[in-house]
Amino acid sequence: MALIVQKFGGTSVANPQKIKAVAERVMGYRRKGHRMVVVLSAMAGETNRFVELANQMQAIPDPREMDVLLATGEQATVALFAMAVKEAGLDAISLLGDQVKITTDRMHTKARIKQIDAALINRHLDAGKIVVVAGFQGVSEDGDLTTLGRGGSDTTAVALAAALKADECEIYTDVEGVYTTDPNICSTARKIDRISYDEMLELASLGAKVLDIRSVGFAKRYKVPVHVRSTFTETEGTWVVEEDKEMESNPVSGVTCSKNEARITIARVPDVPGTASRVFNPITSQGIVVDMIIQNTSIEGHTDLTFTVPKGDLKKTLAIVEPVAADIGAERVLSQENIAKVSVVGVGMKNNAGVAARMFEAMAAENINILMISTSEIKISCVIEDKYGELAVRVLHDAFGLDMPPPKKK
Ligand code: ADP
Ligand code: ASP
Ligand code: MG
Repeated sequence: MALIVQKFGGTSVANPQKIKAVAERVMGYRRKGHRMVVVLSAMAGETNRFVELANQMQAIPDPREMDVLLATGEQATVALFAMAVKEAGLDAISLLGDQVKITTDRMHTKARIKQIDAALINRHLDAGKIVVVAGFQGVSEDGDLTTLGRGGSDTTAVALAAALKADECEIYTDVEGVYTTDPNICSTARKIDRISYDEMLELASLGAKVLDIRSVGFAKRYKVPVHVRSTFTETEGTWVVEEDKEMESNPVSGVTCSKNEARITIARVPDVPGTASRVFNPITSQGIVVDMIIQNTSIEGHTDLTFTVPKGDLKKTLAIVEPVAADIGAERVLSQENIAKVSVVGVGMKNNAGVAARMFEAMAAENINILMISTSEIKISCVIEDKYGELAVRVLHDAFGLDMPPPKKK
């Protein structure tokens, strides 16, 4: 008898039929005697619909109220799911983030989980119930509802698996696992059988939304093996696990594209000590994640400072940056939303020279202009115009031999 945490994403619970089908799948495990904890997302499209509604109310929607609104999507699916289980004659109970006591910080719309109380869930499991937990939500120490950021139900699931010391954590979605790139963009993408936490962290942070980055962080920290697989088939999916030697054989194991960022340039910034800190401190203290940063060589005592932030935070960032720019005597602030960041990721890159050169060459062959570049030990990213995003993914996937089946081991 195992304790299994299973998470089902929005497309898996998109309508009543699908909710019933997922309930059947879970009940199959329960009937075999397993202790089942299920984490659900909102129905596909619901969270986006709420965001649009909020945007009709306020230019920058109040984050606390946004969370009260967003949390209702998951509240609906867990209740419907529990009803479906009861109708089939088994017992289930739905629980919201504040009932479980998924305690988070106060960073509304992107809160971090600080603690989970396993007691209530364990009591219901002991009573034989299927415990259905609303994904994506928690409660701050002062009792306000919070949400964990888009894709956050994955994080709820992995954090629960860690807190409950579950035997298995399965993330069910609309593709059969983690692929070498988004299978919906590149038809030659291949499913990866096993991937390291570190590679998955990079893929997730660079746009492979199949797993939320924070869920991978929890999995790595608490050594939770995560099985990503399809809701609609029985096929074995991808295991996200600790790195092993075999994973280092390919320099690149995945290609990603993210269109979630926007670029801001502060032009002609006086080149004096303390400027970067004056610009970035007020941004990051608002919980806005600054990604790539480029400062040009100083010409006549002035430089340009360019950086990227999540598109959803652009308005808020500009509101912070514009007065600071005026204050420090910069010439003007420019922003650009039509950008994409394409990246190649692989632990094997550590031992393989020439990956960057091959990446730039492949992009040049298609005449794709590179606007910004950043590298780390296991990834290289380029910012390009967003209209070339999908093309760049396919070209890079091919250039790094990912289109072909992996070489047979001797
Ligand atoms: P869910 O609603 O189940 O959480 P998501 O839409 O968040 O599902 O994530 C699954 C989607 O992630 C897939 O449909 C696919 O288009 C996208 N995706 C992007 N990159 C990858 C990748 N490398 N492997 C698998 N899926 C990917
Ligand atoms: N419903 C939330 C979203 O769409 C959380 C999730 O699905 O993981 O981002
Ligand atoms: Mg998701």
